[in-house]
Amino acid sequence: MLDDAGLQALREAARLSPDNLPLRRHLAEQLLSKGYLADAEAEFRAALLLAPKDPDVTAGLAEAFVRQSAHGAALSALEPFLATPGYPPRMGVLAARALLGEGETGRAAQRYHEAVSRDPSAADPELAARLTVPPPPAYPPPPAPPTPAYATPVPPTPAYTTQADAPSGAEVEKAKLTFADVAGMEAVKESLRVKLLLPIQQPELFAAYGKRAGGGVLLYGPPGAGKTHLARAAAGELGAAFVNVGLADILDMYVGSSERNLRATFDLARRNRPCVLFFDEVDALAARRSDMRQAHTRQLVNQFLAELDGVDQSANEGVLVLAATNAPWYIDVAFRRPGRFDQLVFVPPPDASARAAILRILCRDKPLAEMDFDAVARVTDHYVGADLKGLVDRAVEVKLQQSISAGRPIPMTTGDLLAAAQGTRPTAVREWLATARNYVLHANESGAWDDLMPWIRSKW
Ligand code: ADP
Repeated sequence: MLDDAGLQALREAARLSPDNLPLRRHLAEQLLSKGYLADAEAEFRAALLLAPKDPDVTAGLAEAFVRQSAHGAALSALEPFLATPGYPPRMGVLAARALLGEGETGRAAQRYHEAVSRDPSAADPELAARLTVPPPPAYPPPPAPPTPAYATPVPPTPAYTTQADAPSGAEVEKAKLTFADVAGMEAVKESLRVKLLLPIQQPELFAAYGKRAGGGVLLYGPPGAGKTHLARAAAGELGAAFVNVGLADILDMYVGSSERNLRATFDLARRNRPCVLFFDEVDALAARRSDMRQAHTRQLVNQFLAELDGVDQSANEGVLVLAATNAPWYIDVAFRRPGRFDQLVFVPPPDASARAAILRILCRDKPLAEMDFDAVARVTDHYVGADLKGLVDRAVEVKLQQSISAGRPIPMTTGDLLAAAQGTRPTAVREWLATARNYVLHANESGAWDDLMPWIRSKW
């Protein structure tokens, strides 16, 4: 275990590099193991902002809660994981401790034995001794039809009672980013401003010209080009809540649950209006129905369309639906009808000046020497935002090691970024553009791909 000086160095390192997830997680675990529970809780929370679905971070946070007797908070943190089959056994044991703390000995025992039967090394004899209920399968009384609670991946009795309350897995964020945090992409930002923000900010103007607010925007472009970043910034720009829906939040192995998750997600956004509801990888959800063999998946698409349309005109008022895809050509045309994703916005790979601007943003909270970001931009042709973020993270790792050895923060230099660039390669933007070319070159009668065309025709 670290001594206090080591812990202090780790805290300092985390302060200098607030976005370094492995570092924050390590610090949080050290704090937990030394019993600094409130500090550990704060660090795990910070780490969770960086990686909202990380099971280790969630388990760490839950442990910090349990050890502070915040049993309800622990259960809330664990709940999304416990509802999925195959959740980490450590979480089951933590849930058992929290349930016991809440006086629910039966459920605690059930959780405990289920977890330990999957991973005996998670056993906690002291806890087991307090769970004085006979081991399974004597409890709980088998439901009808009698499916053994431990063998099948049936989620535990949900705390909610109606479909509308069912958890969707998605969470509400208060977006802190604004368009100022999105480098380059001036044309894209301007078009989002007109399409999304102005109708909300100045509805009279739009009404005067007979333009209707609403309708969703589909962002498309190569992976890592900043679609999610942009959507989050649009929410911040508007002062709206942000709900980020990943495919895993919706798709569910239980037939019927996906539709319920989808409805719950839209309801969550409606309860938090104004809200930007963002669907990542939407092509998987909105694929052409003719491509789908399974009736169940078609049903999900129909449900998605129904939610987009809303039961009445005001159902989705104040809810801006944004979606992102790397494969827009797979999207069912039904989704592009008026009122649905009727606006397509291309999020391009960054050019050199945009790359320099992205690097500037990515480095702005770090200790820096005088930097020549343009020089780094010149050697990072074909890098997208996510690649540049990887490059900066790599350079920061190296600098951090040096700073820890030196016992003081050493500012990052242009050379550090150039060295990191040598060790990284861009992801597949060129391949993406080649694929895009195949799909859209002869299929642009409607003008849907106008934004993309100059890129397709250029020599990328
Ligand atoms: P996508 O959703 O298109 O796959 P992301 O939005 O996840 O890409 O981008 C990955 C990361 O790259 C973001 O979290 C952000 O840090 C960085 N990034 C991408 N584009 C930009 C940009 N224009 N300005 C600043 N950072 C960016």
